Amino acid sequence: MKCPSCSFENTKVVDSRISDVGTSIRRRRECEKCEFRFTTFERAQLHNLMVRKKDGTVEHYNREKLERAILIACGKRPISLEKVREKLLELEEKWGKGKEVDSREIGEGVVDLLRDLDEIAFIRFASVYRQFKDVETFKKELEKI
Ligand SMILES: [Zn+2]
Repeated sequence: MKCPSCSFENTKVVDSRISDVGTSIRRRRECEKCEFRFTTFERAQLHNLMVRKKDGTVEHYNREKLERAILIACGKRPISLEKVREKLLELEEKWGKGKEVDSREIGEGVVDLLRDLDEIAFIRFASVYRQFKDVETFKKELEKI
């Protein structure tokens, strides 16, 4: 991101947090050359992002659908939804760098996200998204946490 003061190409992020409305990441940046500080509101470019599913078909990335699935997994758990949205935005930023993302990568990303936050939510989400082949695989996952 260019410095608005001197147009230098490299700026570093000094602080990063979710915006009040929860749809973008608010960043404080500092120019590496003139040390000018400024704020940006960034949101991954997702409107063109395509998701490749297991069967090879592609569909548009659906934020609402994914968020709903995550919120269901988090149901009645002591989890900060703000934290969930913040992490999801970070994931979307990563996915949005390409034109297409594997549905598996999305599932795994969310599984990792929830693993850090809450065991129960993690198990709920993982059991739906990973579609464990058998009880053994599921047990192994449980042993990891
Ligand atoms: Zn500058």
